[in-house]
Amino acid sequence: MTLTKKIIIFMVVGAIVGLIINLTGLMDWSLGVSNDLFETSKTYLVKDYLVGGVFYVIGKVFLYALQMLVVPLVFVSLFCGTTALNDPAMLGKLGGKTLILYLLTTAIAISIAISFAYLFNPGVGFDLPTDLEYTAKQAPPFVEVLINLVPRNPVQAMATGNMLQIIVFSILLGLAATMAGKPGERIISLFEDFNVVIMKLVKMVMELAPYAVFALIAKVFAEIGVEAISKLSMYFFTVMVALFIHALIVYPTMLTVLGKLNPIKFLMKMRTPMTFAFGTASSNATIPVTMRTVTERMGVDKAVGSFSIPFGATINMDGTSIMQGVATVFIAQAYGIDLTLTQLGTVVLMATMASIGTAGVPGVGLIMLATVLTQVGIPVEGIGIIIGVDRLLDMTRTAVNVTGDCAVTCIVAKSEGKLDMDVFNDPGAGVIEEEHTY
Ligand code: ASP
Repeated sequence: MTLTKKIIIFMVVGAIVGLIINLTGLMDWSLGVSNDLFETSKTYLVKDYLVGGVFYVIGKVFLYALQMLVVPLVFVSLFCGTTALNDPAMLGKLGGKTLILYLLTTAIAISIAISFAYLFNPGVGFDLPTDLEYTAKQAPPFVEVLINLVPRNPVQAMATGNMLQIIVFSILLGLAATMAGKPGERIISLFEDFNVVIMKLVKMVMELAPYAVFALIAKVFAEIGVEAISKLSMYFFTVMVALFIHALIVYPTMLTVLGKLNPIKFLMKMRTPMTFAFGTASSNATIPVTMRTVTERMGVDKAVGSFSIPFGATINMDGTSIMQGVATVFIAQAYGIDLTLTQLGTVVLMATMASIGTAGVPGVGLIMLATVLTQVGIPVEGIGIIIGVDRLLDMTRTAVNVTGDCAVTCIVAKSEGKLDMDVFNDPGAGVIEEEHTY
């Protein structure tokens, strides 16, 4: 069995187990009350030991293992990619094309979201709770994002996982290495060896994925507020529809028209990174898997993939912008605020800009949403309404986010002759088989 199949089976079983725990009330199953002098405490077997214990630990350990790979992987592979390309002009061209497509897909995504929101009107007649509370954190202003592209301290950039700064540093260092003669060559060959070793480590961590995905998904489904979702079902449904349309219609159309690429082959290979993204709700943590998928499964040249994937994980969040579009209209409708066309334009612009400065980690979409709402004068407390159902949407939109990163990467690579079509068309390219390969 291939790893992908195994992960998907474990994910589905995880969802079923989680839902059973949730719907049968097993979470509230306690061992009775133990009274001691000062407090009365209950021991919840399933809630505390299984879901909050075993599932939690397995999921977190895996998540940390993935995150452990991100910084060294991006640094080393982007350095190697830059040196292999050895062409600053080409690098600029690739960067420019990628950036334009990332922004374009985000703007399309949010426009679709707003259209669907006005089609389904999820917030019309919604009863506003009276006890809303939400303290808004703001996304960094755009000029700050620009200035902060320069890593004042690369070690700190790596320590804090500042992706844009790591990207800038790796490219500059790579360019310098190609110009530095013999010492440069020695460093390049060292990094190339390092790159092979890290890719091996990525594969080793990925082999643990089925069990971890099971634990992550089972925990989410066990804890999910089914009741909260049913109250917000229109909002939930609208976001989901827009996400599916974007992933299954917009990207395939772009791949076909702009890249002359077979979208079915693409989507089949996307199953693994999508599952990881769904399980972790973090495009950043999924970088090792996404990067492996585009380079080894889809045939994208390493120089392109090692740049555009970490870049996309930070600046390209189509799924997130879909949530923001629907949420903005939903909250405005719930408060009885009519949005003008100019305000809607501002929403598109702000959501696209806000995605540039924020990292792909769980829940960051809500922070970006706060910025958008403030800009158009909608009460930020409105986020309090949707926060309860955000986790499942976060997982789904993260899967869309990484799909967008890969679609753009393939299109750009193809346009520059940096896509190996034999690999792209081969369904078995780069699959990890069940047996341990290390
Ligand atoms: N979790 C998303 C991501 O990592 C961001 C968000 O929508 O909150 O891409």
